[in-house]
Amino acid sequence: MQDNLINFKNGIRFECQGSGKCCVSRDSYGFVYLSKIDLQRFSKYFKLSLKAFKKKYCQITDGFIHLTEKEELKGNCVFLKDKMCTVYKSRPSQCRTWPFWNENMNSKVWNKDISVNCPGVGKGKLISQNKIIKLLKEDLNNEKSILENRITPLK
Ligand code: SF4
Repeated sequence: MQDNLINFKNGIRFECQGSGKCCVSRDSYGFVYLSKIDLQRFSKYFKLSLKAFKKKYCQITDGFIHLTEKEELKGNCVFLKDKMCTVYKSRPSQCRTWPFWNENMNSKVWNKDISVNCPGVGKGKLISQNKIIKLLKEDLNNEKSILENRITPLK
């Protein structure tokens, strides 16, 4: 473990407060990238083929598939309505693991950004160390899968 990581040995309280803030792009928190599993889950949920789902709800930036952002409300995820996720049960891994992303566990990032901008941090039930480790693993695997899913000109 790097020594600049936050200490989560005793767990961290977190409960979504429905602010919708993590569903809007800002600074380094950009698009909601999709892995193959995310795409399959959505395709099943909407009863659409993968191709049709991608056409309707996705964009590609630098070869990476991500959810479209609303044109009228730049930065807002296409599935965000009145600060609520309209596809909550089917939401992608990136949303499921928030705020426990590997990049967020750096103490500077956590203290100056995540805990300041996400009102759910410090609230609600205690997320145990084991659960956080599980979410961090899921985040890592998700990132790998997103990288593998990248569309290159050779594919
Ligand atoms: S899929 Fe849902 S949880 Fe994820 S960014 Fe969009 S609105 Fe938010």
